[in-house]
Parts: sequence; structure tokens; C-alpha cells
Amino acid sequence: MDFHVIFEKMLSELNSMKKIDFQLVEKEMSSICDMFRISKIVTKTYQNSKCEEKGVGDVLISYDNGKSGSIALSTRIVTDMMNVIICEVFLIDGAEPWTAEEAETVSFFLDTVTVYMSRNRIDEAAKRFAFYDDDGYHNFRYFIRNIQRAADEEKLGGKAAIHFNLKHFALVNSRIGRNLGSMVMHSFFNTVEEMIGSSGVICRFGGDNFVLLCGRECLNDVLGYLSGAAVVYDVKTGDRIMVSASVGVFLIPDDFVMNDVGDILDKIISASTAAKISGKQNIVFYSDEMLAEKSKVMRIQHIFPDALENEEFRVFYQPKVNINTGEIVGAEALCRWFHEGRIVFPAEFIPVLEQGLEICRLDFYMLDHVCKDLRRWLDEGGNVVRVSVNLSRKHMVDIDLLEHILEIVDRNNIPHEYIEIELTETTTDVEFRDLKRTVSGLQQAGICTSVDDFGMGYSSLNLIKEIPWNVMKVDKNFIPDDENSEKCANDIMFHYVVGMARAMGLECIAEGVETQAQVRALRKNKCDLAQGFLFDKPLPVEEFEQRLRAGRYDIEI
Ligand code: C2E
Ligand code: MG
Ligand code: MG
Repeated sequence: MDFHVIFEKMLSELNSMKKIDFQLVEKEMSSICDMFRISKIVTKTYQNSKCEEKGVGDVLISYDNGKSGSIALSTRIVTDMMNVIICEVFLIDGAEPWTAEEAETVSFFLDTVTVYMSRNRIDEAAKRFAFYDDDGYHNFRYFIRNIQRAADEEKLGGKAAIHFNLKHFALVNSRIGRNLGSMVMHSFFNTVEEMIGSSGVICRFGGDNFVLLCGRECLNDVLGYLSGAAVVYDVKTGDRIMVSASVGVFLIPDDFVMNDVGDILDKIISASTAAKISGKQNIVFYSDEMLAEKSKVMRIQHIFPDALENEEFRVFYQPKVNINTGEIVGAEALCRWFHEGRIVFPAEFIPVLEQGLEICRLDFYMLDHVCKDLRRWLDEGGNVVRVSVNLSRKHMVDIDLLEHILEIVDRNNIPHEYIEIELTETTTDVEFRDLKRTVSGLQQAGICTSVDDFGMGYSSLNLIKEIPWNVMKVDKNFIPDDENSEKCANDIMFHYVVGMARAMGLECIAEGVETQAQVRALRKNKCDLAQGFLFDKPLPVEEFEQRLRAGRYDIEI
């Protein structure tokens, strides 16, 4: 059949939207292109417009006769699935330009035939898109597909599965900007991908979380890289930034049977969470005890909301004492959980609640209950002292923290001088800034702040210099055993830390004072305030009220 007849038939089919004979169109493609002096037709497909902006997509050459040409027509179509399809038609260089009628026909042809023809390939591409996320990383679906395939082929045994989370990546972004930050993340990912090669697979698990499967032969290299690597972010200057990760590893045994991908995921996520929380170990290998720990964590997180609702958490008060006069000068509110007939101590549940944001609810609950006790004491007209409440570092991300605290204190109508907020030291710059903002805000609102457990973490003198604390609480591990111990580094440090606090106008209180000898050592170093078992353990409210009424302890001078 004459080509022109075919083409006319095709156009009329298109016009009447009848089913088109694509095989024929494909076969006659070169004739159609010759007719319109077309050198090349390119179809670009993107998962969505965001990917289009980034240029992450697929380029399909529908036709190319090898002659040089320039773009004469370009159309952009957005599908129902928000996929973007761009078709570009190249006119052979030097060929006669299209007449208006020709241009219209080509455009019509392109909008319909080309897109229809590419549909098969677009479907393929769409399938492939399903394995990438918006930023062009292989996604979790891809991981599942590969790990399932390895399991089906019995190739999982002997491999290592890893979950990792980039540490402080927000800090990387804030230091070099988001765009360079994304580039660094890509580059870090690509390097790991190269390291594992064809022995495995790596994909992004969302945000700065990744999962991978790799052969044991490259495990050491991968772990070495993940625990810290310098990534170049400016090729011109060679400027680099350190990137490291909290890593959870599961060495898959030879006889391992995977029923579900979750069997492996649970293990590597709990291991990497353990690495993240530990702060000391960057890499944690999964063990069975860990799963037991995880189920404990999940149990606590599960029953917490009801426990809070049922007021199972109670405030205990530990007096703070002036060691020269025996007078009770304040108290620290410490949480006790009355659950199923036993008292659960903070060490068992605070770290668990700190894995999420539940701790924030508990802290506000504690503050509210302390305020209610204070209100009662104030109304009764007896002896009332300032009470300190512990706030987890998890609150630092809350930019409305100050308003939340003030809302609770003011709702209970408590004069601000009766409230003290205890916060612990911080390790990152971002936290430092948040901490400074919080403490300064509280300061302006007339609420005291104390730096808790001073000396335990990585205390920096900046923390004391730059943040307007009122109180320094020196950790129990720093307290000298007795007044005669002078040579040990701890004692020397205690002496100077107290001196520094005093010189800077900070109140200084020693925590965990258990013996009379320690009290003598405190006196010798001019640390006037103490809190510890020597005076009292944290007390239920009724007992603490008795102490308040007495007002002081009998002390040995
Ligand atoms: P912390 O704020 O440093 O509280 C002092 C801890 O030392 C308390 O432990 C207290 O019972 C204990 N302690 C007091 N005197 C002595 C002593 O003479 N010797 C010894 N060995 N220990 C003493 P507790 O009540 O088990 O609380 C542990 C930690 O849990 C607290 O340390 C605090 O960081 C956290 N915590 C307690 N309640 C809360 C709360 O409501 N919110 C938050 N965010 N954290 C809390
Ligand atoms: Mg405390
Ligand atoms: Mg403390």
C-alpha cells in the first residue's frame, strides 16, 4: 500500500479516535519521519514534575536516522498518574522548514501517535519508577524485590543485612546548605553502592535512613566507610565534610529462613536504634537479646498512654539541703511509676520514652503535678521551697517549649520563682543553640534553670560561659570521698568546678551525697548545697510535706 494512503488512514483513525494499528505505525516510522524531514524523535519520561526539575528520568529515542538536527517541536504531557512526558522532534539541519499545515500535522501526530507508541515503553519506565524515590534513590520496594529474590534462590545465608542512619545530617545541611547536603548524601550512597557491587543491593528507607544487603567479603570496607568518611562537596576547592552513620548489622546465618522481609528488618532496625541511642558504639551487631529488649520497649510504649491517663506516674520529692544550716532550700521532682503493684524506676522507662516523644508528655505531666502540689502548699500558707523538674533533651526540638512551660505554670497560678527547670548537657551545635534559646527564655520569664549531671557528659566550658544558667548540679561521680582526698584528678576538678561556678555567680549543688565525710569535703570546697541519700531518698509527697514542715535537718558540723 502506498505510504501516503497509510498515513492518511492513520490520521483519520486518530481523528475519529479509533483503535490505531501501532505495529503499522512503528513499521512506517522511518517513512513518516522522512516525509516531515525529521532526524530524531526523543521521548523523555519523568516520574513527576519534581523529578523533571532535577532531570531524573528516562530518555527514550523513538526514532533516530543518525542525521544531525535541531529541535523544531516540543510537547509536554502530564498523565493522570502525574508522570511527565516530553516529546521532542528534531528537524534535519538544513532541511526546508515545515509549512504551517505540516507543523500542525506533526504536532497532532506527536501528541497522539508518539505518546501512544511510547506507551509500552512508558509502562516499562513507570514500573522502573516504582523502584525509585523522588530523589532518584532506589526505594524500599526495590529492596524487598531483591531480598525476596535472594531468599527464593537461597542466596541470603552468609550475607549481611544493614540498616544505617546518617548522624546529625541536619547539621550537615545547615553547614553547607540543603543542595550540597543532598549531593553529599548521594555521593555517600553511591560510594557504598560501588563497594557492595553486584553482591548486594542498597536503597533509601526514607529521610536519612538506608538499608542494604551485601556479601561478607565487602562487609569490612562498608562498615569502615559507614563509621565515618570525608565526602567532597566542592570539587574545585576539594572542601570535604565528615559523614558517619549509626549502623545495625545482622549477619544472616546459612540456615536462616526468611518468611517475611520484616524478619530481617526488625533485627537491623533494632540494632541500629541501639547504636543510635548508645552514643558510644556506632556499629551494633544484632543479637537475640536485643529482640527481647525491643519487645520490652514496645510494651512500655504501648501501655504508656493509658498509664499516664490513669495517673500511674507519681511525683517523688528529694530535698535539697544547705549543709551549713541543715535548712531545706529546695527539692527535685523525680518520677516513679506505680504499675501492677510495683514501683518502676526512671532508669527502666525514661530511656524508652526518650526513643519517641512520649517523654515530653511525661515531663509536662510532672510539671503540672508539681505545680498542683506547690499551689496547695502555697494556699496552706506553710513553708514552700523551689522545686526543680527534669526536662528531657527531646524537648529541644519544640520551638514553643517556653510557651508550653509557662502555660502550665501560669494555669496553676504559680509564682515563677518556685519553679526550676533541670536540663542536661548537649553534644551537638544545633542542640546547643536550642538549649541556649530555651534557657535564655526561661531566664527572662523569671524561671531558674540548672545544668544537671555536670561533669558526666562532654562538658564544655562554652556550655557554662554562653548559657545563662542559675544552678550547676555537680554529678555524684565528681564528689570527693572525704575531705582528705586531694590528689585524685576528680577531687582537683571538683575544687575548681565549684570555684568556677561561684565566681560566675552560679549556685552550685552536689548530687548524690551519701556520707558525712562527703559533706565535710563539700564544706572544705565551699559547696554549700547538697542533695542525696544522706539526707533523704526521693520521698512520696506526704513524707516530703512532713520534712517541709520541719524545715531543716539536724546536721553534724
Ligand atoms: P537526675 O535528674 O540526675 O536525678 C538524680 C538521681 O540520683 C535520682 O535518680 C535520685 O534518686 C538519685 N540520687 C539522689 N541521691 C542519691 C544518692 O545519694 N546516691 C545515689 N546513688 N543516687 C542518688 P532517679 O530518681 O532514679 O532518676 C534517675 C534519672 O532519671 C534522673 O537523674 C533524671 O535524669 C531522670 N528522671 C527522673 N524523673 C524524671 C522526669 O520526670 N523527667 C525526665 N525527663 N527525667 C527524669
Ligand atoms: Mg535532675
Ligand atoms: Mg542529676
